[in-house]
Amino acid sequence: MAIDKKERLRLLPAVHEVVDELLLNDDDIYINHTEVTWAVRKVLQEARDNILGKNNTKYISSNNKEEDFWDYPEREFTLFLKQWLLNEVKDMLKGTDLSLRRVINATGVVLHTNCGRAILAPEVVDYVAQQASSYNNLELDLEKGTRGVRYTHVEAMLQELTGAEAALVVNNNAAAVLLIMNTLANQREVIVSRGELVEVGGSFRIPDVIKSGGARLVEVGTTNKTWIRDYREALNENTSILLKVHTSNYRIEGFHHAVSLKELVELGESNGIPVVEDLGSGSFLDGVDLGIPKEPTIQEAIKSGVSLVTFSGDKLLGGPQAGIILGKKELIDKLKKNQLTRALRIDKLSLAALIGTLRLYEKGEINKIPIWRMLSLKKADLLREAQKLQAAIALSSALQVEVQEQFSCVGGGALPTANLPSSVCAIKPLEGSVLELERFLLHGNIPILTRIVKDWVILDPRTLLPGDYQIIIDCLSEWDR
Ligand SMILES: *Cc1c(COP(=O)(O)O)cnc(C)c1O
Repeated sequence: MAIDKKERLRLLPAVHEVVDELLLNDDDIYINHTEVTWAVRKVLQEARDNILGKNNTKYISSNNKEEDFWDYPEREFTLFLKQWLLNEVKDMLKGTDLSLRRVINATGVVLHTNCGRAILAPEVVDYVAQQASSYNNLELDLEKGTRGVRYTHVEAMLQELTGAEAALVVNNNAAAVLLIMNTLANQREVIVSRGELVEVGGSFRIPDVIKSGGARLVEVGTTNKTWIRDYREALNENTSILLKVHTSNYRIEGFHHAVSLKELVELGESNGIPVVEDLGSGSFLDGVDLGIPKEPTIQEAIKSGVSLVTFSGDKLLGGPQAGIILGKKELIDKLKKNQLTRALRIDKLSLAALIGTLRLYEKGEINKIPIWRMLSLKKADLLREAQKLQAAIALSSALQVEVQEQFSCVGGGALPTANLPSSVCAIKPLEGSVLELERFLLHGNIPILTRIVKDWVILDPRTLLPGDYQIIIDCLSEWDR
């Protein structure tokens, strides 16, 4: 029988009792008294709400049953309560109670859209931290002592790296496309192939962005075949842009024809109409060294004479969320003058992260860019990691574990057909369901995201960071179902 709620409320310790216990007995707690007290108050309030049934979270009792907090078996309740309070307070002080949290990505999907896409190099993070914790010259011209422009800090780097005449950076690639539509095609027509009317996910659809920019979409060609004459026939005095969209997240194979950027640029030039390419996951590297299908590079787009090209900062560039626009100075100047640019502008932390990442490209230190390091890992490197993980898991947990040959993928809507050969560690419960094991990993103190292949939970070393291994091993050692 459950003891009643009043009795349970009485069992809750006073704030100072928990604070003293934490400050006396826990070496991890180095934070000041005020902060600990704040956390203890919050947690005790949560305990009160739990007991009164205001929250409906379930807790696992020692015999592995789900119980309401206030329904918890009587003789265990005091012990459970104490442990629970201490853990909750510690989590809160470490920030692990926050909604936005670190996650371990064991899926092998390098640019995981649900896990924040590209991660940044430690050098880049240091630079961002330095810029974030001090004042800087974001909009200050140090030479003249007058007001400056935030874009100048990155424009020269992008010109140097790509050969573009001019550059502008905004909040993300969707914003870049929107800004171009609104500046160059408001109330006018934009011609796009029916094979390139892409949906990127998260409800970003090329036709809708064109409309949001105030432009009118003119579709030409068919889903699988579009020819240069289709564009030519659609030209009229209202045409303002020929838009090419890189179909980065799907492939049309078989009976297929798309117009090359070069052909489109020729048509644009002879009719005085700007050609814009949305490259999506723009990359400085074509990836062929890694054995992945060739991606069109940013430099190639510029070389082709395209008027403007746009791409994301956090896909294959491996930097922060940003939308990068490169191309003709005359057009970039127009974009800079549009009032929308202010609403879509990049913030100083992302700008710092982008500058830090571009510096690594300048120095040729591609392997310091985490996503390129992950993408270039070879099967032999991964085999060694998978074997180490297998040995540790076999030693410390009650699971079936083996090394398997699998594939990782690029993700982030990039290179959908590229499969990167990988060696992975595969685990499954001796009895019980893999789904349950997958859930268990996801609900650990630090969530571990995995994928399931043929009744095995896959841990792909390609996307694991050095500190992740021990956390996975510790978490799995607690699996006892
Ligand atoms: C990813 C993608 C976008 C959107 O980029 P964000 O930086 O996420 O806004 C737009 N167009 C294409 C072709 C893409 O692949």
